[in-house]
Amino acid sequence: MKYTAFLIKYAEIAIKGKNRGLFEDALVRQIKYALKRCEGEFAVTKASGRVYIECTEGDPDPYEVAEKLKCVFGITGICPVVHVEDEGFDRLSEDVLSYLEEFHLSGDRETSSHKPPRTFKVNARRARKDYPLNSQEINMELGGRILERFPGLRVDVHDPELWINIEIRERIYIYSTTIPGPGGMPVGTNGKGMLLLSGGIDSPVAGYMIAKRGVKIDAVYFHAPPYTSERAKQKVVDLARILSKYTGPIYLHVINFTDIQMEIYEKCPKDELTIIMRRYMMRIAEELAKETECLGLITGESIGQVASQTMQSLAATNDVCTMPVYRPLIGFDKQEIIHISERIGTYETSILPFEDCCTIFVAKHPVTKPKVSIIRRSERRLTAEAGGRIEELYRKAMESDEVIIVR
Ligand code: ATP
Ligand code: MG
Repeated sequence: MKYTAFLIKYAEIAIKGKNRGLFEDALVRQIKYALKRCEGEFAVTKASGRVYIECTEGDPDPYEVAEKLKCVFGITGICPVVHVEDEGFDRLSEDVLSYLEEFHLSGDRETSSHKPPRTFKVNARRARKDYPLNSQEINMELGGRILERFPGLRVDVHDPELWINIEIRERIYIYSTTIPGPGGMPVGTNGKGMLLLSGGIDSPVAGYMIAKRGVKIDAVYFHAPPYTSERAKQKVVDLARILSKYTGPIYLHVINFTDIQMEIYEKCPKDELTIIMRRYMMRIAEELAKETECLGLITGESIGQVASQTMQSLAATNDVCTMPVYRPLIGFDKQEIIHISERIGTYETSILPFEDCCTIFVAKHPVTKPKVSIIRRSERRLTAEAGGRIEELYRKAMESDEVIIVR
């Protein structure tokens, strides 16, 4: 006996009425995308409030399939299913007994808990009303046969250790195990956001968290060659690739930020460098976001983590934005962020030691309580009016936009 299909459970709270179709279509699309990374062919269908995945070709490892599905937001549970043909109730009973024996009572399958269950409940559902027995009759009759064959088992209708779900459709589905999914909402159901993606630990986690709410992600990386290397850029591409397992394809904009950075370095007070740089990053990210129909910016900032993330610094950075800026890590400790990054698989890449444009030019003693009015005044030194070149360099930076489609 083999698992040849999966039944996908999803939370229905957010999908009343018209949104339901949208939600399910996005879920199906993201599932198909995730399964491209598996061997075999799959048919993904929605039917009466459920999504089914059936393997139509090849012999994929069900555990590997489940691993891929754990990356699809919107899924709350993944149930590996054994399919049998409808060849009468006696045959079904035999199939269910073999299924129990093989998957749940012999104790050597990875899906069964290591301790075999002591109690069970049969939960039949008839999607096809022409089946000769009704759900209640199936429960009773199958329950009896299971007790007869496995005298060690008892029925517990309130809190069984093993649910034996039987769904009668064209074919019959048998399943018991529910592997938890990631929850959230399918990507594509909540618009699109522009993630400021650096090579650090925080921003990939921020992107993951916003994507989990159904938001599609585009990203921008500010590159400062030759101060930051090709390998630093490759690291960001690699991080985007890991994120794309969850989000689907990511359009990564790489902006050459060197000249702007040098100009700020030359003309502004050193201790304000980071803040002014961050303001230019936000301005450019916002312009890109508008061009690409993103509805907000996303950063990995968290209050107090570094000098540029005090309440005053965040206010100074935010001062140049007209779009909402989503900072999902705002109240998290570093350790909590690291924990998520390990879980989603970005940590190992994030800690690779490549330089970051913010660390290269950073002052020894950056301001921790910048005043917006003072920062604005310092920035005026960059303008053409004051003999600077920032307008031209800004345009050039926008023109340097290199789009990498990461999947
Ligand atoms: P991270 O680990 O995400 O790099 P961090 O703790 O190093 O964060 P900062 O360097 O102050 O923090 O950056 C704060 C946020 O600004 C980042 O989370 C990211 O969203 C954005 N950011 C910083 N540098 C860059 C960059 N070179 N390109 C794109 N976004 C950046
Ligand atoms: Mg950083």
